[in-house]
Amino acid sequence: MSLLVVGSIAFDSVETPTERRDNVIGGSATYFSYAASYFTKVNLVGVVGGDWPDAHTQLLEDRNVDTAGLVKVDSEKTFNWTGKYLPNMNDRETLDVNLNVFGTFDPVLPESYKSTPYVFLANGMPAIQMRVLDQVESPKLVVADTMDLWINEHRDSLLELLKRIDGLVLNDSEAKLLTGHENLISAAKAVLDLGVSFVVLKKGEHGALYVSADDMFVLPAYPTEAVKDPTGAGDSFAGGMMGYLASVDDTSAASIRRALVYGTLVASYNVEDFSLDKMREIEKSDLDIRFERFKSAVNFT
Ligand code: AMP
Repeated sequence: MSLLVVGSIAFDSVETPTERRDNVIGGSATYFSYAASYFTKVNLVGVVGGDWPDAHTQLLEDRNVDTAGLVKVDSEKTFNWTGKYLPNMNDRETLDVNLNVFGTFDPVLPESYKSTPYVFLANGMPAIQMRVLDQVESPKLVVADTMDLWINEHRDSLLELLKRIDGLVLNDSEAKLLTGHENLISAAKAVLDLGVSFVVLKKGEHGALYVSADDMFVLPAYPTEAVKDPTGAGDSFAGGMMGYLASVDDTSAASIRRALVYGTLVASYNVEDFSLDKMREIEKSDLDIRFERFKSAVNFT
């Protein structure tokens, strides 16, 4: 089954304690679609400026990402984000954001995308995320991501969005901000009360937590020492998770658990290099090898 994603497409400048990269390919929808492409065909909706090279679009197309929904506005510049990681490589500071062409983004779905059964609304303004929902025809599963900016400044429309989607993926700190609960389980349950059927809390290097009305699943992060750039970890996690679910076309508890595992594994590769560099090197078979290692690392009797 195919998967639709709408979100940011960016030039990122990233500084870690040891290295710096400028104007590399980034953005929530970019990381998401690349990660999901190991599993299924992705329909991408986004906007870029005249400075976006066609080679970047080709890179996505080469991985089974349909870019019919990618609009290029030649007179404007692509969204760009600059961030700096603290020495713990988990916390980061946003140094600069220029929305540019993304600031007036009004997503219009190509006709061929409207019946996509699996939908992911990557991090973005809730009103824009809802504009996408207005255009899709009876999807099987809709999941969204959000961030502190929207929780703080667009709370009402975010609450409206939560009543229209199936699942929400967000960071532990964002769940606390959204619900006012310090305890993560309480926060997750409070998110369910806002209208979603399930919530996935991302805890960075501490893994992920899935909570629905009748199930709970806890998963550590894949144990890796080779963290070079954590940017896009959340988006590649969501891409792996949604890509797997779309590929098996099943949202049972067992499939959701496996999906979280695949999300974790794609993210574990993504953080091993800047931008899409590591994901460009690996194949689905690499994920399957890590799947077995991870299984034995968390297995106990
Ligand atoms: P993650 O590390 O998974 O949170 O995602 C990082 C990506 O999000 C970067 O590639 C940025 O380009 C993108 N990003 C940063 N700020 C925003 C924003 N306000 N809206 C949409 N995307 C953003």
